[in-house]
Amino acid sequence: MMSETRVVFLFAVWVLAVVSAAADDGLTRRDGQYVRLTTDLASEEEVQRLVESFDAAVPQWIQFWNLSNSDFASFQVDACVMRDPERFKRQGLIPENVPDFPFGYAQGQQIWVHAQPSEYYTRHLMLHEGVHCLAFAAFGGAGPTWYQEGTAELLATHAGTGTELTVNRIPANRQEVPYWGRFKRMAQQRRDGMIPSLSTVMGYQPDLKGNVGTYGWSWAAAMLLHAYPEYREAFFAAAKNGRTVGPGFNRRLERTLGQQLPILAARWQVMSQDLDYGFDWSRERVNLSIDDPIWDGRSLTATVAADRGWQSAGVRVPRGARLRLKASGEVTLARTTRPWISQPRGITFQYHRGRPLGQLLLCVLPNATDFDAATVGPLPMVELSDEASIDIPQFSWLLFRVNDDVGKLEDNRGHYEVTVSR
Ligand SMILES: [Zn+2]
Repeated sequence: MMSETRVVFLFAVWVLAVVSAAADDGLTRRDGQYVRLTTDLASEEEVQRLVESFDAAVPQWIQFWNLSNSDFASFQVDACVMRDPERFKRQGLIPENVPDFPFGYAQGQQIWVHAQPSEYYTRHLMLHEGVHCLAFAAFGGAGPTWYQEGTAELLATHAGTGTELTVNRIPANRQEVPYWGRFKRMAQQRRDGMIPSLSTVMGYQPDLKGNVGTYGWSWAAAMLLHAYPEYREAFFAAAKNGRTVGPGFNRRLERTLGQQLPILAARWQVMSQDLDYGFDWSRERVNLSIDDPIWDGRSLTATVAADRGWQSAGVRVPRGARLRLKASGEVTLARTTRPWISQPRGITFQYHRGRPLGQLLLCVLPNATDFDAATVGPLPMVELSDEASIDIPQFSWLLFRVNDDVGKLEDNRGHYEVTVSR
């Protein structure tokens, strides 16, 4: 019989060997419930947080896809997070058939991730590749590029770390997500007039160069489909076609969406202009419907809340209509230092995106969008201020919003009123 001290001692040695000891190759190995991590990261704390973060994310993914916990009780991913990939190659930890990749790669239940200059981004990529593994296990594949990368980004973009991690979060600010860079690249494309249309995004081909814009817009597409309850069923049903990577996947999804496609394209155009740090879907869903009545010419009043994104007047205005708009009211745009009071003309010494802060914005958004166009243009905006007369060139919605940073709507108060008449 062994003495109790000896048992404890042997147990301690075993724990050291299995859980955290550096093996002969000098790499650190640490196991969680859903991940077996091998890494050359120097920080023990970061290694610990990576494992805890992965373990916190997996149950959220399982719930997101409405999978059964028991089916995935033994789901486990072998992960290499690498500062110096050569070390991993020498140890035979990267199989020959794994291509060169700039960020991360997933194959079966194995992932490889290049450690990034920030802890957030390393963790993000590890989660991103992990989502692919779950899709392979749950659906036999993750669909074409946009859906594969879009859903991985959706479930990898997170707030918090370790046991506090929450996935599917739009970053509140740049400081939260150093080196992630999606919004920076997307803003650049916006400035260059190169915002891809939804059909361009859905047609993305596999790209091993890891174009950050491709990831960002794919994420935006997945988010859009998930954000509106009326698309959600089609979005989730698509996952079940994960084995299909060819055009059949999109065709099926488009068929399911059917008549909603023009609305989806319109919402894409609106979202793609505004998606940025602090974007909050509970404020930014745009109420549009193909069943919105045609405006009968009778005068109507729209209320434009300062704490919301684009708000529709609720009608479709026919081609050839001539409108007279009159705006009134006052809103408070709260800022940390001081609140600004604004009228529809805006505050002319404070600017957001080249227009006065607090200005009432009007977008005349066509009902019909060229779904097959490669890019989407800027929103057709009209200078409104207090009063304006406008001609409507084609069937359109009237959308209004108060000019402000999408990340700073929460503490805005009040609304404008706009009267629309002939
Ligand atoms: Zn990916």
